[in-house]
Amino acid sequence: MPDTSDPACGNIPFSFELYPPKSDAATSALHATIKRLAAAGPEFISVTYGANGSSRRSSLDVLTHLLRTTTVDPLAHLTCVGSSNAEASRLIREFLDAGVRNFLALRGDPPEGTREGDAFLGDLGSAAELVQLIHRVQAERVPYREAAIPGLPAARTIKREREKVRIAVAAFPNGHPRSRSTTQDIDTLLAKQAAGANLAITQLFFHADHYLGFIQRARAAGVEFPILPGIMPVTSPARLRRILELSGEELPSELAIALEVEPTKEGQREIGIRHATELARKLIAGGAPGLHLYAFNQHETVLAVLERCGLLTPTPAPSVSEFPASHPVKEYS
Ligand code: FAD
Repeated sequence: MPDTSDPACGNIPFSFELYPPKSDAATSALHATIKRLAAAGPEFISVTYGANGSSRRSSLDVLTHLLRTTTVDPLAHLTCVGSSNAEASRLIREFLDAGVRNFLALRGDPPEGTREGDAFLGDLGSAAELVQLIHRVQAERVPYREAAIPGLPAARTIKREREKVRIAVAAFPNGHPRSRSTTQDIDTLLAKQAAGANLAITQLFFHADHYLGFIQRARAAGVEFPILPGIMPVTSPARLRRILELSGEELPSELAIALEVEPTKEGQREIGIRHATELARKLIAGGAPGLHLYAFNQHETVLAVLERCGLLTPTPAPSVSEFPASHPVKEYS
């Protein structure tokens, strides 16, 4: 077996995305997956949220499991769909009370069966408004902190700076399927930044230049926060069809053909890992500040990608926040 690891990839941070399990058996399997993923030293593990709050309990269960059993920061996806301001505030407070300090603020998609033009959102009209609400709820919940005064054991001083909350948002290198233009997507990202977002995670994509070109446009427009590329190792033709249906991305023809003509599951898995590894290496070479891997609640494939990129080292990776906000993006061809 050739050594496919690449020390040139350095030591950049990585994170994983999981979804809440739907059965007891899936819950036990997910707990085993979490143990393996946490041992790799990710920057955070994110947990998706059912569009209209359908997974509130199960998402929170996974997040609290992460808090209880690992030292990894959990990051909670939250959506705007169908909530009043008061309901959304209650939900945010519930997550904060559980110990969650990292969020991915999303608008969410219309629930199935929603017709074009039907209102589905509730009081919050966009992810940017949800970002603002998370900041507001956090500020109201902990308006100040007390701190000890050195040399005066019984005395306390009031600190007005707030506890840090990381609020990530979604970004779409190839445009959101409903967006009117690429400029609209960048404008939306700027609005999210103005609302207080401090990180973005991208929709999956299949070519490094799609991400790198998007970063150049975003930086030129004034987007300053780190934008993590979302990478999904695609290990079967059925999975590829499903994710294209969900994301609206264009068919990556070379990968699609390679998966279709490969007769064995093992071979298809190898194709998916190799494709994701090559993509990850090009992104890192192009200046990506980290990698966010869609894990599909399994550890083997995403860990294989990181291992081949040379990122599974025994020393902990640096934090995303240690990177300059406007991490330079190298030229690409
Ligand atoms: P916004 O920032 O509010 O809008 C994004 C873009 O949508 C705008 O730029 C605009 O161009 C375009 N747009 C949207 N609707 C219209 C319209 N009607 N007309 C014109 N333009 C429009 N969804 C979930 O339900 N749960 C999850 O856990 C989840 N996790 C995600 C994680 C990542 C990393 C990403 C990239 C997406 C995730 N989504 C999730 C999907 C997301 O909710 C949808 O893509 C949603 O449609 C847009 O959300 P947003 O936060 O980007 O919205």
